[in-house]
Amino acid sequence: MMTAPEIPALRGELLHQEPLARYTTWRVGGPARAFYRPADAQDLALFLQGLAADEALLWLGLGSNLLIRDGGFPGTVIALQGGLADIHIEGERLRAGAGAACAKVARSAARAGLTGAAFLAGIPGTMGGALAMNAGAFGGETWERVVDVTTVDRTGRLRVRTPQDFRVDYREVSGPRDEWFVGVTLQLERGDVESEQARIRQLLDRRAATQPTGRPSAGSTFRNPPGDHAARLIEAAGLKGFRIGGAEVSPKHANFLINTGQASAADIEALIGHVQQVVEQRFGVRLQPEVHVVGVPA
Ligand SMILES: Cc1cc2nc3c(=O)[nH]c(=O)nc-3n(C[C@H](O)[C@H](O)[C@H](O)COP(=O)(O)OP(=O)(O)OC[C@H]3O[C@@H](n4cnc5c(N)ncnc54)[C@H](O)[C@@H]3O)c2cc1C
Repeated sequence: MMTAPEIPALRGELLHQEPLARYTTWRVGGPARAFYRPADAQDLALFLQGLAADEALLWLGLGSNLLIRDGGFPGTVIALQGGLADIHIEGERLRAGAGAACAKVARSAARAGLTGAAFLAGIPGTMGGALAMNAGAFGGETWERVVDVTTVDRTGRLRVRTPQDFRVDYREVSGPRDEWFVGVTLQLERGDVESEQARIRQLLDRRAATQPTGRPSAGSTFRNPPGDHAARLIEAAGLKGFRIGGAEVSPKHANFLINTGQASAADIEALIGHVQQVVEQRFGVRLQPEVHVVGVPA
């Protein structure tokens, strides 16, 4: 008698109509039709194999650069936060899962006496988000340190790719279509534990002094236009403190738009549009959002 091949069972968590506001640093966003938190890369691959080829996918790290509209996401959200978060260090190389928090990567590198990752300390996202955005701060950028990345495609195939396979720009990365990050290897350098830990403290202090770090935002909303700063233009346009509904241009750092408590995604999106319009009228510069706006209106 023939026995059917055993089909491996999914080990992650699948939710339906999951509200997304709790997964974004702006604290806004309607529900995901489906929401999957994979147990590990193999489990993720298996889950992807089972999806319809045209299923809309949204990859979610810590939601620190995402404006998800109030009507939510009519597809499947793949949430890596809390999963795929292993960090291993071998010599001067650090390998991290795409769900590892940037701050944890920075601290692990410092503890191991490695230099080159301290800039990640204050970036409140995952390594997957940092790869997708080429996140950077204080002169450091994610892709400067990348040796290779592991990606997964819709069929669940895992591949190791090198930076040559991607086009990397300021807060923008493009690469093979329909492939997403599940892991990364960074090249760091030998340093000193104490001075790396001191560097991290210093960078965090500098942030706290200049940014409204304790309030719900997505960090810098707009990219800096060539040769200028979005924050300078927004402030010069007199927009600091300007509000639409519960969304406000931070009085502390004009490129941060804050959810003062009850903002909707629509309030924030309207404020983004207003800032763009006023800055363009005053200075002839069209600011481009750095944040990714996704989903459908309520
Ligand atoms: C207070 C504050 C300070 C900030 N400071 C900085 C800063 O100094 N420098 C800086 O660069 N950014 C900064 N940011 C923005 C943000 O933290 C970064 O862009 C970060 O890299 C986003 O990571 P995330 O995991 O939160 O990504 P998410 O916001 O969850 O996703 C961002 C984009 O990446 C995609 N994505 C996420 N994971 C994957 C994956 N595994 N594979 C493929 N695509 C993926 C998403 O689909 C989305 O398009 C700040 C944000 C806040 C709230």
